[in-house]
Amino acid sequence: MEPACRMCASGDAAPHHEEAGHRYFKCRGCGFVFLHPGLTAAELEKLYQEEAGATFHHGAEIAASHEKDHEARLRLQVVGSILATAPEKSALEIGCSAGYLLSRLRDQGWQVAGTEMSDDYIRYARETMKLEVGRTPPDRRFGAVLLFNVLSHLPDPERDLAALRARLVPGGVLVLETGNAAEVAPERVGHFGAPEHLWHFSEPTLHSMLGRIGFRDIVVRRFNVEWQRGMIRKLGALRGPSHGIAPAEAGAPTGRAGPSTALRASLKRRMANRFLLWLRFGMGRLRANPDHFCTLFVTARV
Ligand SMILES: [Zn+2]
Repeated sequence: MEPACRMCASGDAAPHHEEAGHRYFKCRGCGFVFLHPGLTAAELEKLYQEEAGATFHHGAEIAASHEKDHEARLRLQVVGSILATAPEKSALEIGCSAGYLLSRLRDQGWQVAGTEMSDDYIRYARETMKLEVGRTPPDRRFGAVLLFNVLSHLPDPERDLAALRARLVPGGVLVLETGNAAEVAPERVGHFGAPEHLWHFSEPTLHSMLGRIGFRDIVVRRFNVEWQRGMIRKLGALRGPSHGIAPAEAGAPTGRAGPSTALRASLKRRMANRFLLWLRFGMGRLRANPDHFCTLFVTARV
């Protein structure tokens, strides 16, 4: 029997993509793409901790601080104008990783807090970045709630976003970034990120979900990520599996070379990552449409 769509409850979903032994279905009604069967709470928990089989390598990501900080700066440029309209300068970031973006916001005079699933990130964000980060949000309201590439990971996006809406002060802004994998042919997406990406959205499914929750002034901006993806594949093939240039969300390579070699490697890696981010946020403004694999920046207001 075909699984029911989690977005519109239609029972008419077709097999869409298979990856790492997991299957995605696409709803013929609304176009939502979802993993089926989904993961249990215990399976999800395991994914976000640094242990055998874990998908995320937090130590490497924390070490790649220049890249992550640069990415945070570019993201803040994209959403700066909407953040400037927040009724108060307080922000909650869901899935804040090591806290680079929150740290930049704090430098701009914001009161900031974050949540994380990973205990490694929580420790780093608290002890090194001196940020208020925990498993769950602090019990107060904010002028802005931010989720960068987190939506696909949430166990129940509609319920979770509704709970986050209640965390916003009147007029508060929601900012989220997610991929548009549900809009394009699977071969253009390539890697769906199974199994941690439980869902894939499109502009229409985002609009309808946010509208049902009660958000207004919903605006979607898109950046084509196909050039970045293509270059990551090329660089990976050039440098071999142990030194592949990581995609923006993954870790940095480590080596056993001497200090000067390590410095050169680190400079090269930094330049390569800057170039990849330019492909995403600079060149990515071109041909950013529903026919291309894009990252979507969505802003909305309570
Ligand atoms: Zn549907």
